[in-house]
Amino acid sequence: MTFEIISVGTELLLGQIVNTNAQEISRLLSELGFSVYYTTVVGDNPERLKQALKIASERADGIITTGGLGPTADDLTKETVAEYCGLNCVIHQESREKLEQYFTAKGRYMPQNNLKQAEMPEGCIVLPNDCGTAPGAIVESGKNVFIILPGPPKEMRMMLNNQVRPYLERKADCVIHSKSLRVFGIGESAAEEKLSPMMQQMTNPTLAPYAKTGEVEFRLTAKAETVEKAEAMIAPWENKVREILGDFVYAEGENQSLQQTVVELLLQKGMTVATAESCTGGLVAKKLTEISGSSEVFHCGAVTYANHEKERLLGVKHETLAAYGAVSEQTALEMSQGIRQRAGADIGIGITGIAGPGGGTEEKPVGLVYVSICTEDDHLAYRLQLSGDRDMVRERASMYALDLVRRAVLGILTKEYIW
Ligand code: ATP
Ligand code: MG
Repeated sequence: MTFEIISVGTELLLGQIVNTNAQEISRLLSELGFSVYYTTVVGDNPERLKQALKIASERADGIITTGGLGPTADDLTKETVAEYCGLNCVIHQESREKLEQYFTAKGRYMPQNNLKQAEMPEGCIVLPNDCGTAPGAIVESGKNVFIILPGPPKEMRMMLNNQVRPYLERKADCVIHSKSLRVFGIGESAAEEKLSPMMQQMTNPTLAPYAKTGEVEFRLTAKAETVEKAEAMIAPWENKVREILGDFVYAEGENQSLQQTVVELLLQKGMTVATAESCTGGLVAKKLTEISGSSEVFHCGAVTYANHEKERLLGVKHETLAAYGAVSEQTALEMSQGIRQRAGADIGIGITGIAGPGGGTEEKPVGLVYVSICTEDDHLAYRLQLSGDRDMVRERASMYALDLVRRAVLGILTKEYIW
């Protein structure tokens, strides 16, 4: 079954609002395995809407409209669809009562205009609106099905997920199922280079990279009759991706963050961490403490911006700072060691760098960051040259620090870390 989306609203054509409804509907349709070849945006104009309905219904089986279900005279989507299908609109008693209750509950008089929202195309499936006044509708007409949804995104989303999804699931003959692998420490192009011979062989499932700040997500997507079958198709390819990318893969799932992984690993191993941060200003501590349960594994974080505080709070030697400067491998090493000892944690992290935009020199340019880790067995520092603006440098540096903790807990720290 193929689908098209028609978004109705002059505001959309004028660029005053973004067509997020079409995006959400498209996402659901593709997840359920329906092909979408066209989407249309049309203004609040019944003639042009009728044109759009005609074109869409000739080339697709299903049409989903959004917008134009309000009480005012320019809201004409439902009436236009009904007319196009040769149906009258008649009062739907339940919707009328719901409307009246809605206004009574708010202590407001119901304008007569609103009554038109309870007039539905004859024989349609009415979709009650749980967070607004306009019900939606499903009209089955000949080879076509028209699904009429409201414009306000909250109302649209609720109707789409709660009522349209189950309807479409019954119509779908296959599902599109994805699995994400989250990768850190290897750039998108380097990872793609490793995977591209394999990607070229693949048709179902497919493999696609999605770059995020400092990390990459690889998504395996399979089309199959059921989720179980799709999962079974994905599994062997997932193993291949894992083989190729090795321990750069830190998690699976779209919502699993690096800090989530790190806290879970620390909890599993019963290990603790403490951080000493300069250029990241506490970002690592913030990320760790975002995760519920981190109090078990995170001792403390020191934000030591001034040199004398690096000495006072962390025990960084005055001579080290004088000889090598605050942004140096030696200082980073003493920071991680200092915080580890003072906090009595298993792992100490030290970060010092130049986030920019000012403060760079030829020898120590903006984006230069030293990240150090100190554990019972290892005491290492890594020199990073990060790109991007101040926020990006800080974000990336904090993620590298988290990744070091992950590696330390897994026992896969390497002296030469090829990031
Ligand atoms: P109302 O009862 O509010 O008039 P409606 O069903 O008639 O609802 P519209 O009038 O077309 O819908 O749109 C109402 C509001 O919903 C718009 O002002 C806009 O903020 C939002 N909206 C409409 N269409 C979209 C869309 N395609 N994507 C995102 N937002 C939209
Ligand atoms: Mg409207």
